[in-house]
Amino acid sequence: MKYKLIFASLVLFGFMNFDSKDDKPLNFIVIFTDDMGYGDLSSFGHPTINTPNLDRMASEGQKWTQFYVASPVCTPSRAALLTGRYPIRNGMTSSKRGVLFPNSAGGLPQSEITIAEVLKQKDYATGAIGKWHLGHLPEFLPDQNGFDSYYGIPYSNDMNYTGEWSEQFENAEDPYYRSDYKKFNVPLMENDRVIEQPADQNTITFRYTQKAIEFIKDHKNKPFFLYLAHSLPHIPLFAHPDRVGTSKQGIYGDVIEEIDWSVGRILNTLKDLGLDKNTVVVFTSDNGPWLAFKTHGGSAGPLRAGKGTTFEGGQRVPAIFWGPGNVKPGIINEMGSTLDLINTIASLSGTEVPKDRKMDGYDLSKVLKGSAKVSPRSSFYYWSTNAKLFAVRSKKWKLHLQQSAPVLYWQPTEPLERPELYNLDADVSEKYDVAAKNPAVVEKLLKIAQKHQLDITNPLKDNLAAILEADQ
Ligand code: MG
Repeated sequence: MKYKLIFASLVLFGFMNFDSKDDKPLNFIVIFTDDMGYGDLSSFGHPTINTPNLDRMASEGQKWTQFYVASPVCTPSRAALLTGRYPIRNGMTSSKRGVLFPNSAGGLPQSEITIAEVLKQKDYATGAIGKWHLGHLPEFLPDQNGFDSYYGIPYSNDMNYTGEWSEQFENAEDPYYRSDYKKFNVPLMENDRVIEQPADQNTITFRYTQKAIEFIKDHKNKPFFLYLAHSLPHIPLFAHPDRVGTSKQGIYGDVIEEIDWSVGRILNTLKDLGLDKNTVVVFTSDNGPWLAFKTHGGSAGPLRAGKGTTFEGGQRVPAIFWGPGNVKPGIINEMGSTLDLINTIASLSGTEVPKDRKMDGYDLSKVLKGSAKVSPRSSFYYWSTNAKLFAVRSKKWKLHLQQSAPVLYWQPTEPLERPELYNLDADVSEKYDVAAKNPAVVEKLLKIAQKHQLDITNPLKDNLAAILEADQ
């Protein structure tokens, strides 16, 4: 009896210690950068870009080294983060176009349920700031997807370019080209209204940060979810005039260091308001670096290739989880994905993910809290920008069925004659194909890929109408 009582009080104490610091529900902030590579932060190995705030966030929280986005380009990656479903299911991928454009008629289908909508079960205040890219027409904007407010550029910051697309490659590293934001006639929106066009991108990171801090202050007495999706470091690159030329790496480094400053301002605001003990902040990127733009694209560090490809450099991104008292500090060499955020946030907030559809996420909350060492995610499927399954990972093994060109990823390709197999524990750079030596592993992964494709091609589970709409 005595032991039972001790056990019961330990359980009770443990529970209270973990989940109900002061009985306040947790707030959530997801900071999502655009085209930032795996190797672009000093805590992920960059030698000439300084990111002290993100590094401190990583040392106070968890740094995940095997964290994936569900697509190597913007639109499908964002749709997957918000819905916890592969883009082939949520409708935000297409065989014709990788992402939505200003002339696209489509967007995230109404039937999809976002993190913001899940958190509305508990009346969270929800704000979206930054790049949306899930449809810019009224019926697809954030307010139709569970967000109370929106401020940002609704698609990529290089769209509505007034010159030739090829000039962007030729001129990308020219500072005069870069400094003229007026060549990119993108709108800045507040809710469903355009308030500035072209948006002055020199101050866009600065202004997103001000808006984020305003949102946090306005909702300090109510549980909130803030989705802050920076427009940068997607090219063309812009930094606040006070910051240009301050990084050793050049304008790309200036941009990353400004994002780092922004993260520092947000974490300090949470501390100043006493919200740090009941807020979980996630920082990650939507896809790998855009290598075609040379020094104006980022670095994938030790990983192969970059944006647009299903190599690790395209889809493995830096990821940091922070939440003093709620996230146990450490380096996590386990697999996780932006697909897992909806399940994880639902678990941490006591809300529920949809049960009427196939979800692709896992609940990572036990690993975040330190009560589990092994991630529930042990597999990952790499869908290409043209809606084909290009590779599959199971534990340490990755099998490639088809590959994009490493830099000019939009060029058409054919399936590999012989699939390539890599051991990602031993060969993170995907340099040494070991398929010939491991035929049984190849067979096993081929079966896993087939099973996944059969599951996907069930039209009842797919949002095929939206896939077609995205083609417009
Ligand atoms: Mg991107």
